[in-house]
Amino acid sequence: MEITNSPTPCRLDVVVPCYNEEEVLPISIPKLRDALETLRNEKLVSDDSQILFVDDGSIDKTWERIEEASNRFKDIVGLRLSQNVGHQNALLAGLSHSKADFTLSIDADLQDDLSVIPEMVKKGIDGHDVVFGIRSDRSTDTAFKKNTAELYYKLLSTIGVRVIQNHADFRLMRRDAVDRLLSYEEANLYLRGIVPLVGHNSSSVTYSRLERAAGETKYPLKKMLGLAIDGITSFSAVPLRMIAALGLFVFLIAFILALWVLWVRLVQDTAVPGWASTLLPTFFLGGIQLLSLGVIGEYVAKIYIESKGRPKYFVQTATDKDRR
Ligand code: UDP
Ligand code: MG
Repeated sequence: MEITNSPTPCRLDVVVPCYNEEEVLPISIPKLRDALETLRNEKLVSDDSQILFVDDGSIDKTWERIEEASNRFKDIVGLRLSQNVGHQNALLAGLSHSKADFTLSIDADLQDDLSVIPEMVKKGIDGHDVVFGIRSDRSTDTAFKKNTAELYYKLLSTIGVRVIQNHADFRLMRRDAVDRLLSYEEANLYLRGIVPLVGHNSSSVTYSRLERAAGETKYPLKKMLGLAIDGITSFSAVPLRMIAALGLFVFLIAFILALWVLWVRLVQDTAVPGWASTLLPTFFLGGIQLLSLGVIGEYVAKIYIESKGRPKYFVQTATDKDRR
């Protein structure tokens, strides 16, 4: 497939994961269609390019909205997953459903700036296999989200996990990069960590993240924490090594303390029944042991889930069954 300087424009699929987005879809469907129309008019993408909405097991009217739009417009396709499997898996479902030369992943709430899409597509046509959308500022985030995100990026880089800073999942990928991504079979997918590994010749565009067009965030703290823990434990064994280092450290201290106790008992012979010196190490060691067990448990759980090799999602319906 010759993409660079190709005379016929390449096909683009815009992949949009949606979870309970009934409020935002009536706004984002026309906006996304306009954006695609602009690309078509500029002959950047082919006429059969389309928008693929992935309904991640929504319990509101999201699927009805998608189905309705798909019946009305030829360039809209809906994919309905049988249950909520999370943003990363929903995105993966969309990427593996797509057969296009390029895919663009974008959130349903229009927080990613549509006006940089032509620049992303041009970079893709110029031969870049992954084009990352990078947020130039975090002014629309709460102070909490901004600070925790910064801290998290620092932590990731300290333990050697390579991610693109301030990049969520707004990105363009060429077919071969998508195929490489799909060849990863792990169940605990952290796309932001894997995509930098599959891009051989990547590039980026910057944009400022906008406010959510309607509705509320579908990423409550619990889901965000889950994603953050996945980001670390799927890419780094440093926490396990830290436990070993901590264990060694505590052992050395305990050894020195033991010498001291022996010295007090045998040489000085002034042993006083100590309350604090008994209780403190008990709490301290108990705490460290529980924490360490927790971290090890996290990795064991990961091995357990991986070893089952269960499917990550099931597609219940696709509106392009007869079109493909
Ligand atoms: N999303 C999803 N499944 C989920 C949670 C979220 O498909 O379980 C989608 C959601 O509909 C949106 C995108 O992922 O299109 C990003 O979510 P959101 O905008 O709520 O996250 P935030 O921007 O607040 O971090
Ligand atoms: Mg959002």
